[in-house]
Amino acid sequence: MRKAGPSLRAAGIVVAVDGPAGAGKSSVCRAVADHLGLLYVDTGAMYRAVAYALRGRRQLLGQDGRLADALAALRVDLQRPRGGGPLRVKLNGRDVTREVRAPEIGELASLVSRHVLVRKRLVALQRSLAYHPGIIMEGRDIGSVVFPDADVKVYLTASVRERARRRAEDLALQGRRVPLPVIEREIRRRDRRDRSRKVSPLRVASGAIRLDTSRMTEAQVVEALGRLVRKRLKARSDLLQ
Ligand code: C5P
Repeated sequence: MRKAGPSLRAAGIVVAVDGPAGAGKSSVCRAVADHLGLLYVDTGAMYRAVAYALRGRRQLLGQDGRLADALAALRVDLQRPRGGGPLRVKLNGRDVTREVRAPEIGELASLVSRHVLVRKRLVALQRSLAYHPGIIMEGRDIGSVVFPDADVKVYLTASVRERARRRAEDLALQGRRVPLPVIEREIRRRDRRDRSRKVSPLRVASGAIRLDTSRMTEAQVVEALGRLVRKRLKARSDLLQ
């Protein structure tokens, strides 16, 4: 993808990317953020960090008072390493980037994220990042709840079969062989949970462009999203001239 020239450098732009599990949001958003000099924020990692902190204490999800106390004692940060590279997930100062990627933490995150207290806390944290000169934030509710006025809103999706195939490929790279039907079942269950919850369900946000990537390569998706963001940046810089 073409690099943005200095005049196209991000100026307070907010790009919201939502979509179901395994749609390839993270790799695509990270690549576009790198090319255009935007801050990449993976909100799923925040929900995973809270899930990680609450593992072994699931009973708190049914006790609002104690959950509020537990959340108040948590500090979740996404930090950019000094030498560059993907953001690190910190929980009370401890690096848990690797731990939060475990499949059981993803599963617990989709339970934890149904809780209104958890969402309130993390949405506030996500909004506080908008002061950055330009961000691309991905999750399930970014265009619908966190930044309904985002400059660019995209809903990235793909068929369950294709998402399962990609996930199986990723797992194989980590040396784990999981049968495709098992992954498909897990994806369907997570989709159902994310779409049917009462608070901030996953849906195509109003004004979002829906991009089905089932038949696209990752490079094509990066190009398509990058084009949308560059177009918006250009419109903004034309307005300023
Ligand atoms: O994207 P990722 O798989 O890391 O997200 C883990 C879980 O966190 C999702 O299944 C979803 O339930 C929850 N999540 C959410 N809202 C977001 C991001 C993630 O509810 N903005």
